[in-house]
Amino acid sequence: MSAPPKFTGIRELFAMIVVMEKGATAEQIRHMAQRVEGLGLKAHIIQGTERTVIAAIGEKRDGTKESLASGAGVEDVVPILAPYKVASREVKKEPTQVTVGSLNVGAGMVGIIAGPCSVENEEQILTTARAVKAAGATALRGGAFKPRTSPYSFQGLKEEGLKLLAQARKETGLAIVTEVMSTEEVHLVAEYADVLQVGARNMQNYRLLEAVGQAKKPVLLKRGPSATIEELLLAAEYILNEGNPNVMLCERGIRTFENHTRFTLPLATVPYLHHKTHLPIVIDPSHGTGHTYLVPDMAVASIAAGADGLILEVHPDPERALSDGYQSLNFPQFLETIARCRAVAAAVGKQL
Ligand code: PEP
Ligand code: MN
Repeated sequence: MSAPPKFTGIRELFAMIVVMEKGATAEQIRHMAQRVEGLGLKAHIIQGTERTVIAAIGEKRDGTKESLASGAGVEDVVPILAPYKVASREVKKEPTQVTVGSLNVGAGMVGIIAGPCSVENEEQILTTARAVKAAGATALRGGAFKPRTSPYSFQGLKEEGLKLLAQARKETGLAIVTEVMSTEEVHLVAEYADVLQVGARNMQNYRLLEAVGQAKKPVLLKRGPSATIEELLLAAEYILNEGNPNVMLCERGIRTFENHTRFTLPLATVPYLHHKTHLPIVIDPSHGTGHTYLVPDMAVASIAAGADGLILEVHPDPERALSDGYQSLNFPQFLETIARCRAVAAAVGKQL
């Protein structure tokens, strides 16, 4: 006897929004979510300020739409047209705010994630954590697992680095953002991190996206240097599809023919993504430019373009950094950059 065929995907996709009436009760919403799941679909309950909707996604079967439309408290059942579903503005008009400890990103709040490219030693990470916090950062970044272009470059302190980050959080209260590079390390990194960073090189590592989706920690998803925005949103959809709604998208620059900067940082990404998705957008002017002297102006420009957050590389002594020193700010440069960003944030009606 041969084994039953493995499930390999959806033959015909059913992706609809069950729009609940304004006055629908919690019981009606719960009941409809159960009904969606009873039909073999995944139910994503999305609470808006005015009304709740349930995104229902899965295999299409005859009569599903009609069956949902007849439910108590249901106003309408409408298709989700975008290729990404839960990430789409169609299912959620209000912007999503991701909140974890000291970090608030989206819906009027600007989060500042700052710290070294790599965690190098105790003194480096602790002095940086204190300095960026004093200057107004709301989260600490630092790579313990580093994706390096060359296998001969510094690869990160691994678990020792995670422990140092946890120590910095204990002292400063800053939420920790750090990269996870492989599926096998998700549990370990999630033990220490507040936000799991999926790096540019891993944006299309679909098993990793599913694993961080299951980890139930907020995720900072960086755009691959040659990925389109639609591919970025579909990568986010992998995480959302696992039931993890806390995804921040990060523009960190793309590869073009241009070589005056390390990558090309397209800021039209910000208003475009705000048009297409409710997820918050974080800009990385450090990797996006690759030169310290370009970072402050691009950080300010990102806030002016509507970014919900920044991720900035900051090092106590950039010249001696083990990675990315050439694009890192020192403490006075970071302080000045944040002061400028704060003024622009106020001008565009946001809180930093
Ligand atoms: C980083 O944040 O240090 C990093 C490696 O970024 P990216 O994945 O965008 O290259
Ligand atoms: Mn870096």
